[in-house]
Amino acid sequence: MASGPPWVFDVLDPETWAGLSGEEQRLERRRAIGRRQDRRRRQRMREAGPRDRYTLEDVGDRDGWECAICLSPVSREFRAPHPCTPSVHHVVEVCQGGSDTLDNVALTHLFCNMDSHTWGEKSPAEARRRLAGRLLRGKRVGPRRHEAPDEEALALAASILSPGARPGA
Ligand SMILES: [Zn+2]
Repeated sequence: MASGPPWVFDVLDPETWAGLSGEEQRLERRRAIGRRQDRRRRQRMREAGPRDRYTLEDVGDRDGWECAICLSPVSREFRAPHPCTPSVHHVVEVCQGGSDTLDNVALTHLFCNMDSHTWGEKSPAEARRRLAGRLLRGKRVGPRRHEAPDEEALALAASILSPGARPGA
């Protein structure tokens, strides 16, 4: 019987494990840790209560294609990793016990969603300044490098910052 962590053997039998090199065993162990983390996340979601089947379109239509964090319009035309990509935000995070149900999700920009996770709550005006600031830094082309913003990014940032574009916001 090979000695390996038992949770690696959900996909590998002990014999195969014993035949792997040290480097391959390290890789398998890392994959197994990832699978275990995924299982735990799914488990927490199940324990958090009921789940709804919903699509991004459902959430967007319900929320009027407006970002719940910065209150500016969300357009379907963008795709990740563009900061303005439509994204489903969990109001109470899943890791805090929030459920994956329609009453716990809201439409946001991808950037606003990630930013709220990193920096916590902020006013809609502050969230708009941060989103516009992100657009003005341009496309990311390296870990710390950005391309100059193009015309589209400049126009988007201006419309996000312009209060006239959002009556009532
Ligand atoms: Zn937003």
